[in-house]
Amino acid sequence: MAEIADVVVAGGGVIGTAIAWRAALAGLDVVLVDPEAGDAATQVAAGMLAPASEALFGEGALLRLNLLAVRRFGSFAAELESAAGQHVGLRREGTLAVAYDPDDYAALARLTAFRRSAGLDAEELDSRACRALEPFLAPDVHGGALFGGDWSVDNRRYAAALGEAARSAKVRTVRDRAVAVRTGDGRARGIRLADGGDIDAPNVVVAAGCWSGAIDGLPEPLRTVVRPVKGQLLRLRHPAGVPPVLSHTIRAIVRGTDIYLVPRADGELVVGATQEERGPDQTVTAGAVHDLLHEAMSVLPVTSELILAETCVGLRPGTPDNGPVVGRCGPDGLLLATGHYRNGILMSPVTADAVVALLAGQAPAPEWEPFTPQRFITPDGPR
Ligand SMILES: Cc1cc2nc3c(=O)[nH]c(=O)nc-3n(C[C@H](O)[C@H](O)[C@H](O)COP(=O)(O)OP(=O)(O)OC[C@H]3O[C@@H](n4cnc5c(N)ncnc54)[C@H](O)[C@@H]3O)c2cc1C
Repeated sequence: MAEIADVVVAGGGVIGTAIAWRAALAGLDVVLVDPEAGDAATQVAAGMLAPASEALFGEGALLRLNLLAVRRFGSFAAELESAAGQHVGLRREGTLAVAYDPDDYAALARLTAFRRSAGLDAEELDSRACRALEPFLAPDVHGGALFGGDWSVDNRRYAAALGEAARSAKVRTVRDRAVAVRTGDGRARGIRLADGGDIDAPNVVVAAGCWSGAIDGLPEPLRTVVRPVKGQLLRLRHPAGVPPVLSHTIRAIVRGTDIYLVPRADGELVVGATQEERGPDQTVTAGAVHDLLHEAMSVLPVTSELILAETCVGLRPGTPDNGPVVGRCGPDGLLLATGHYRNGILMSPVTADAVVALLAGQAPAPEWEPFTPQRFITPDGPR
């Protein structure tokens, strides 16, 4: 017999699980469908909550959404920690952006001026001031800027806490793959599973990251909107007894290449990441590991003393305009929540808020207006 629910969510990464938890808290009966969480970009991410040091020219609407997201993260994380009885490793020290050589510094200065003009908090620092904040930085570091409003979270602890909170809010998990959205009389009726079973629900949320388009039943233009953007990343650990080598997240431009180093309270140091257009390829390459370590050691030579604990690769759900795709689409009752690209951890609380508002027949926060699915269905039409 088919399972019956008010809402079925396809995809148990950080987006789908946050939605499932919040929808259950809003009083809905929720089923979450995911074959396994192992492939999720959620497990690979660096966990930066960094609207300021991520802000790029031409992404004003995305910046406004990311700022909403970081403002929401603190209260959401506090509620999550209390619901799950687990810490998520939230850190508020800020991001120190540094430049390795004079050309890198010129590039960073242009970005810092732009970010300041967008009203972001950015303090320019010379080389000595950078090393006063982070004594292990290489003396060669030319200068930098401190973005005090950026935070970070331990994405794996955060995802585990979301899973636990969803369980305690009575979300039921089905370990299978959604293959199609079932419809009837012009509205969504549920999900068809790979094993042939069905879940009946009047509301279906497709939140399967870069795999969302593989689920039948989305309006045709949306099936190709999300593409996988490969990211390779390293997890280092401090040897026993060695104190933390960083307290801020470091974003470095090193001879024209961008890297970041994200410290965790438990001694992990994340070094990332590549951005590669290689489709669904999930191999770790020797060249990427070499390059990440080489650039990391250029700005933080002590990196060479740390333990290389893990190499990992994930697929970011990218879209043509780098913005997420969240909202109603196609038949009544069908919602899409994907395309979070570089910022899915950061945006998970506000995405859950937006989807729960839509499920209740309310409008999400105005920051979401530029990011509806309609922009890809009728690009010149109403949003
Ligand atoms: C190297 C790297 C670094 C990153 N760093 C950051 C960062 O610092 N900060 C930040 O905010 N974001 C970061 N991101 C981005 C972030 O990880 C993603 O935006 C986010 O994980 C997207 O979440 P998601 O739940 O949509 O997708 P995913 O996390 O990919 O989860 C998708 C889920 O859907 C499931 N699924 C797939 N197909 C189906 C199906 N047919 N039926 C049911 N379930 C299905 C999968 O098993 C998976 O569990 C990074 C990503 C990468 C790769």
